[in-house]
Order: sequence, then structure tokens, then C-alpha cells
Amino acid sequence: MGQGAIAVIGAGIVGLATAYHLHIDGQRVTVIDPSPEGDKTSYGNAGGIAVTEVVPASVPGLIWKIPGWLFDPLGPLAVRPAYAPRLIPWLHAFLKAGTTTEVARITTALAVLNRRVYDDLLPMLAATGLAGELHRRGALTVYESEEAYRRDRAEWSLKRSHGIQADYLNGAEVRALEPALGPAVACGVFTPQWSHVSDPRRLAEGLRQWLLANGVTVRTGRVVDIEPQVSGSVDLRLEGNETFRCANAVVAAGAWSGSLVRQLGDRVQLESERGYNTTLPDSGVNLSREVIFAERKFVATPLAPGLRIGGAAEFGGLDATANYKRSDALVRLAAMYLPGLNAQGGVRWAGHRPATSDSLPVIGRSARHPEVLYAFGHGHLGLTLAATTGRIVADLLAGRSPSTDLTPYSIARFQKNTPRHA
Ligand SMILES: Cc1cc2nc3c(=O)[nH]c(=O)nc-3n(C[C@H](O)[C@H](O)[C@H](O)COP(=O)(O)OP(=O)(O)OC[C@H]3O[C@@H](n4cnc5c(N)ncnc54)[C@H](O)[C@@H]3O)c2cc1C
Repeated sequence: MGQGAIAVIGAGIVGLATAYHLHIDGQRVTVIDPSPEGDKTSYGNAGGIAVTEVVPASVPGLIWKIPGWLFDPLGPLAVRPAYAPRLIPWLHAFLKAGTTTEVARITTALAVLNRRVYDDLLPMLAATGLAGELHRRGALTVYESEEAYRRDRAEWSLKRSHGIQADYLNGAEVRALEPALGPAVACGVFTPQWSHVSDPRRLAEGLRQWLLANGVTVRTGRVVDIEPQVSGSVDLRLEGNETFRCANAVVAAGAWSGSLVRQLGDRVQLESERGYNTTLPDSGVNLSREVIFAERKFVATPLAPGLRIGGAAEFGGLDATANYKRSDALVRLAAMYLPGLNAQGGVRWAGHRPATSDSLPVIGRSARHPEVLYAFGHGHLGLTLAATTGRIVADLLAGRSPSTDLTPYSIARFQKNTPRHA
């Protein structure tokens, strides 16, 4: 039987950032993952520190757009037919989260977290020697038509009301900022608070190496069962029947967290929202910052391994095989905006976003077993919110009152008549 004061389940960016914050608090930490060095959602994402993204996925009127998107086999949204029946409870909760009142509440809750991102992220990057990985050059959202921009104006106003800077640019101003963008772009919005990293994989690997060099244990193992003991400790049963005893466990297993949560008797609406991308090592196109293509719902980020073009939201569960035609379709779309784009040598990738039905992460204690904490469900914002999540979890385990009210992120929001712990 292994021993460790705090076990972090999952070595994605959220688990690693949590391990970091626990470690600097003086806690003894073990990170457990079936493949600590293997590919994970945190390795292949778009690399955006997307602090301006505070509006949830489910918004009023979205339901009318869904059929059109689903009709396009390589469009921004897809549901695998065989999986559709299993998606119904999540979809029901997702649509319920899309009322005007709920959108206002969720936007506020996301803005509260995003507002503190740099306060939590910058010290972690500095302490781990990774400060050079961050590029604070803002992002540019571009539109093919003024009309499409006007349709989004209410959303931009909502963002501005939460302190987000969003500067409208006409087509010429957009091209002055990013000359690689062609005539297909009619206008855009510059959001200077956004930033991006050189390479999300390099960041996660750098963090893992720092943790290893500083005494954090990272061990290979899949947690198949979490068994809280009457003594107050927690036994983690690993594949192969080994048991790891710890004082506290933190579930940071991304899109795979749902089964562990349910074993503990907690409820959650969590699905895999699979995204796709292609990284072009020799794109022939120079962008200085991340560009978001508003109507077609994809992004392009200039990263160290190349120009990464990605997006898409596919619901098919964790076990469906990837459909890389989606990666190819996004490159074809990007070529419409970026004349001269060279797609040769593109590397295709897919990853499972951990998507809650209300677009809010789950951060805080288990509703039934307070010795187990949750740090998952970050959807499109896992890289952005990793350091903040880690800091909050460390505050809770140190008995400090987190500077943020955690009620909106609590697992309690999914429960029916169960005890609630902050
Ligand atoms: C195409 C795409 C683009 C994205 N772009 C951005 C972006 O620009 N900015 C941003 O902030 N976010 C972005 N995201 C979202 C972000 O990548 C995720 O939210 C984030 O990576 C989730 O991190 P995680 O650590 O929770 O999960 P993961 O990185 O998935 O890590 C979870 C880990 O848990 C492990 N695990 C699973 N089950 C168990 C178990 N039973 N026992 C032990 N370990 C287990 C897995 O092996 C894995 O290593 C994007 C996602 C995609 C797909």
C-alpha cells in the first residue's frame, strides 16, 4: 500500500497546476495518472489564455442554430448518432442553462475566475522558470460581415460590463494588426487581455519536470475506485489492485472525472466535447496573436510547433474513434481567410474537453465526502483556469478562506437533497 498526504488524480494541466500550488504550501503530493507523459487534452489545445471568454456555451436562441450546424457533417457541432440517447440528460441541463437569467449568473461566475487568472498564473510561471512561455499580445476576433458583428454586439457589451476590453476594428485596421488576413475579413474586435503560450505541451511538460525536480511524486496508475475511510483518510484503488492511501484526494481527471465522481455518490453533468486541430509546421503565414474566426467557430494560434488551426465540438463519448476529417475541414476553412496558407506536413490532433452542462468548472469539496476535492470540468478554459483552480484547491486544503466565493463552482449544484460542503 502506497502512502501520500495528498493525491492528485490526473496529470493534465489542471492536476499539475494543483500539485504545484499544494507543493508550495508545503504539502506532500503524489500525482497519479495512467500515462503521465502521454498525450492528453492539455497537450494539444489552442494555447489561449482566454480570459475574455466569460459567456457560456448555452445562450438564448442557440437551440435554433443547432439543427443547421448538425446538418453540416463537418460543421462546428456534431453528435454521434449512437451516442445521442446518452447525451439527453446533459443536453437537457445544457439548454436549461441557456436562459437569460442563467447566462447572466454564469457569465458573472466565469468573469470572477477569469479576472484573477494572471494573479495566479504569473507567479507559477515565474517560479517554475516558464515565464517565457507566455505571450501577452491579445487576440483578434474576426468577422466576414458587419452584420455578423452586429449580431454579436450584445455579447461584446456583456463582456465589457465585466471589465473586458474589446476594441472594434474595421477591415483595414484588422489587416494593419494582422497583415496575413485576407479580404474575407470585414471587421474585427481586438481583446488585449487575452494571451497565448508557446506550446501547451511544453508548458505541461515543463511543469511536470519542475514538480519532479522539486520532490513531488508522479506515479503511473489508473485510479479505478475512491474509497473514503471511516478514519477520515481516503484509499485509492489502482488498476492492478494496488491501494494508495492518502489524507485527501483531488479529482483532476478532466473529461474522465465523471465515473470517479459518481462512485462517491455525487452527481455531475459532464461530457466529452471533443475538439480537433491541425498544426502546420510551415504554414507560410505569419500571425502575431491568436485569431478567432467568429462565424465559423474556429481559431488559429501561432505556436512554437507551427500555426495551430482548430475548433469543433463533437459529442460522441470518450471511446469513439476520432474523425480527423474535422481537422482537415478546419484547415480548408482557414485558407479562405489566410491567403497562401501552406497545409503541407500538417499534424492532426483531437482531444476531449471536459464539458459541464453549465460551462462552469467544478472546484471544491465532494458533497458527500469532504476529504475528496474536485478540480475538473473546465471545458474550453482548462489551460486558462489551471493555475487559479490549483490555487483555490490549495487554499481549501490549507484551511484558508479562498478569496473567491466558490458557490457557483460547487458540485452541490448538480445534487438533489444531499449535504453540501463549501
Ligand atoms: C481543440 C481544443 C482547443 C482548446 N483550446 C483551449 C485554449 O485555447 N485555452 C484553454 O484554456 N483551454 C483550451 N482547451 C481546453 C483545455 O485543453 C482543457 O480544458 C484542459 O486541457 C483540461 O485539462 P485537464 O487537466 O482537466 O484534463 P486532461 O488534460 O484531459 O488531463 C486529464 C488527465 O487525467 C488522467 N486520467 C483520466 N482518468 C484517470 C484515472 N482514472 N486515474 C488517474 N488519472 C486519470 C488522463 O490520463 C489525463 O492525463 C481546448 C481543448 C480542445 C480540445
